[in-house]
Amino acid sequence: MDKKILNILKKLEKYGYKAYIVGGFVRDYILGIESNDIDICTNALPKDVINILKLDKTTKDNYGSVNIRTKKYNIDITTFRKESEYINHRPKSISYIKDIKEDLKRRDFTINTLLMNSNEEILDYYNALEDINNKKIKCIINTHDKLSEDPLRILRALRLSIIYDFKIDDEILDFIKNNKSIIKEISYFRRKEELDKILISKNRIKGLNLLKKLNLLKVLEINFNNVKDTNDIIGIYSQINFCEKYPFTKNEQDLIKKIKEVIKQGSITIETLYKYGLYINLVAGNILDIDNITINKMYNALPIKSRKDIKINTQSIVKLNNNCYNNINEIYELIEDNILKGILNNKNKDIIKFLRK
Ligand code: ATP
Repeated sequence: MDKKILNILKKLEKYGYKAYIVGGFVRDYILGIESNDIDICTNALPKDVINILKLDKTTKDNYGSVNIRTKKYNIDITTFRKESEYINHRPKSISYIKDIKEDLKRRDFTINTLLMNSNEEILDYYNALEDINNKKIKCIINTHDKLSEDPLRILRALRLSIIYDFKIDDEILDFIKNNKSIIKEISYFRRKEELDKILISKNRIKGLNLLKKLNLLKVLEINFNNVKDTNDIIGIYSQINFCEKYPFTKNEQDLIKKIKEVIKQGSITIETLYKYGLYINLVAGNILDIDNITINKMYNALPIKSRKDIKINTQSIVKLNNNCYNNINEIYELIEDNILKGILNNKNKDIIKFLRK
């Protein structure tokens, strides 16, 4: 365990406070998975954390957590808290408390309740180690209340079970079966965040099949048939239809559209390579079962890879076009098409001759 992180705990302890690493980081540590997201919980108030660790006031967020970013870690330090009843899937209020066990109770699953102290000892108040050993995702207390309070926990349970190959407790499965419509209340941002974690894991195909088996595609507003495994997430996205409200970036949308076009065409050609470039064709080729070596060879053999490579400039084309700019793009397309098909040599004098004709 990184001494710098343990030192944060030690500094808080020096001032008489309790401090532990909690949640996902400790779970992953036990599973032998490296993580750079660290949650620390303490009974020190945010203002005390800021003073003791000599931090800037702006490190405190609106929810009473203090955030430290280092090159390697994203560290959140949160004061032990109790949540009031939930309204619209959020606690109406929170209050700071002294008892760590009470803080752990507000969390979702047993496996997320492990603590590590400054001596690197693991504290296990809710039998998390047993559940990790038995590969089980189980709510800490009352499954029905936990999942109704915050339906995001349904997706978190599915995500954790898929990426770790853990079984989901029957009570959670029963709840999902009988209450799947509350998944609609999860924001599209959160849905995508959880789906992304599933889709980048090695178990993604199994995960997609589980979502289908549990009849969740409709409520998630996604749809797919046979998804070919590819370790490029954009390649996976391209085989799934997402409701338009999912927050894909412009760049992602553009890449997905292009890959879909190549998949629809069903083959990698000189034209698709020239039009979309190597990356799109490699991803689409992967889905179409066309090997990388063939695609790379085809791409390297292209006589031109973009308009920049054509041995004539726009001014010369305009001049040959009676000083008219109107149909320059079409002329370019004609030149590109002929060069790519091998009908025309990419040489300035040949192109000029071709255009004169
Ligand atoms: P990862 O970092 O791999 O995504 P994680 O989802 O467990 O793991 P965070 O989302 O950073 O990590 O959450 C940190 C901890 O906060 C969790 O381990 C869990 O104890 C608690 N937690 C997070 N989200 C919820 C939630 N919706 N309901 C209850 N507890 C939660």
